Amino acid sequence: MMVTFEITAKEGMGRLGKLEINGKAMQTPNILPVVHPKWQIIPPAELRSRFGVDAIFTNAYIISRDDALRPAVLEKGVHAHLGFDGIIATDSGAFQHYMYGTDDLKAEDIESFQEAIGSDLGVILDQPVQVDDSRDVATTKVKTTIQRAADNVRRRKSPATAWYGPVHGSRYHDLLELSARSISGLDFAVHALGGVVKLLNQYEFSMVTRIILAAKQYMDPSRPVHLFGAGHPMVFSLFVALGCDLFDSAAYSLFAKEGRYITASGTWHLDQLVEFPCACPACTGYTPAELRAAPEDDRYCRLAEHNLHVTMEELRLIREHMRAESLWQLVETRCRAHPKLLEALRVASGAGLPVMAEEPIYKQKAIFYTGPETLARPEVVQYRRYFAERYEIPRDTRAIVVVPDLDVNPVASPQHRKWQEAIAAACDGTKLKREEVLVAVLNPVLGLLPEDLLHMYPLSHNIFPIVFDSDQRAMMEAAVADLVQREDVAAKQVIIVVPEVIEAEVGIEMAYDATFLRQVVDHCRQLPRASPVIMVSTVQELEDCLADLKSAK
Ligand SMILES: [Zn+2]
Repeated sequence: MMVTFEITAKEGMGRLGKLEINGKAMQTPNILPVVHPKWQIIPPAELRSRFGVDAIFTNAYIISRDDALRPAVLEKGVHAHLGFDGIIATDSGAFQHYMYGTDDLKAEDIESFQEAIGSDLGVILDQPVQVDDSRDVATTKVKTTIQRAADNVRRRKSPATAWYGPVHGSRYHDLLELSARSISGLDFAVHALGGVVKLLNQYEFSMVTRIILAAKQYMDPSRPVHLFGAGHPMVFSLFVALGCDLFDSAAYSLFAKEGRYITASGTWHLDQLVEFPCACPACTGYTPAELRAAPEDDRYCRLAEHNLHVTMEELRLIREHMRAESLWQLVETRCRAHPKLLEALRVASGAGLPVMAEEPIYKQKAIFYTGPETLARPEVVQYRRYFAERYEIPRDTRAIVVVPDLDVNPVASPQHRKWQEAIAAACDGTKLKREEVLVAVLNPVLGLLPEDLLHMYPLSHNIFPIVFDSDQRAMMEAAVADLVQREDVAAKQVIIVVPEVIEAEVGIEMAYDATFLRQVVDHCRQLPRASPVIMVSTVQELEDCLADLKSAK
């Protein structure tokens, strides 16, 4: 069995990569549409040619229980039976076992059956933990699954079938850890995270987020991770950013059967639609009213095709955002589609994401501020933590000049140049040296940016609306308050520049609303252990203030 997983880029906990099994490749992140082994709304060969599907998921249990199907598939193999030459993964029937209480399954039978039909990627007969399982039940299921995983490794006969190692535990984080560590220690090609379908159906995305983060930290990072049962495109980007590489879903077909029309920002019902808001081939050439009047089979087929087109489109869009290193921008946009998604994004920030995320040191694309969630992005949190805990104010510093970030980044701003020139002029090299003055820019995304770090990503690579929201104001006020209370700032002068007028990027003078900065100064002056804060408004006042510092030596 030949499996390789090559990771070419990382962002957040997300990975852009390529998974290759038995010489068949797929880009990741990606989805495996679920295909029924007996009847298909879209022929599997067309899934590849018309929709760009490289891998599908079908059910070995259904094949094994069907007296007509079983011998035919055993003889031809599952690829020839379905007419699909890409990667075929098969399920073991654990879900049917759970849903319908069937008890006619033996792990050794269904697992060797998957090898016999030539599955590229099989699932062991696991016991998914459900969110409402008691601790005792959950513990038994996790231990049984680990035992079956070990048995599976021993029993394997076919080199052509790779295996999913399912990780379970649901809300019991110690069980997730036990499960993830055990599966990581065994020879499995792909990690699968299961037992979340019910949570997804109930929009409990924040609990799914906690489960993913709790399990991910103990999974072998060189293996792809498949989140079982997540099939709505609106959730993909978030779960990709949390480190899921693969999804599977029957949603495109199940939703179509119920007349539901999927979009990346939510679901519509065909009955509500006056116009199709999509330009895919399935939505072109007729109106929703015409589709409602069409025979049931046509309606179902067209809706399923549309649903699959938008599903595949979203994965392509995610991969493009990862190539452009702007995954977070997409995640923050998508999470505005539903309050429960926004909740999940916020939960992720508090549940260890900023610590676990591996952001590139440099990105081609600036951080776009899209709302308060941007302040909790891993790269933003990581910078603020670095400045608070590891950055040292140079020991020789006598004055810290805090200047506001303006309409263009500090390196390009004509007003910043003026401030820099005034400081350079005031430093005579003897009574006041330039290296004794530290300029720090107050930025509405990252907080304080000392001038010696401005070349570092993302300090000069962030774009924000010049009108701040209350979260940005609170963050900036806290940043300055922390500065004036730092131990390495004690006995140094903090000069806060609060301009009335600035020279804008376009080269004209503009009024600057200084109300907020004045509040920051007032707040800092009330702090009991703060260094003294001097407020200046004009370049002249800044020069005077530095002259006083000079004569004080
Ligand atoms: Zn469409």
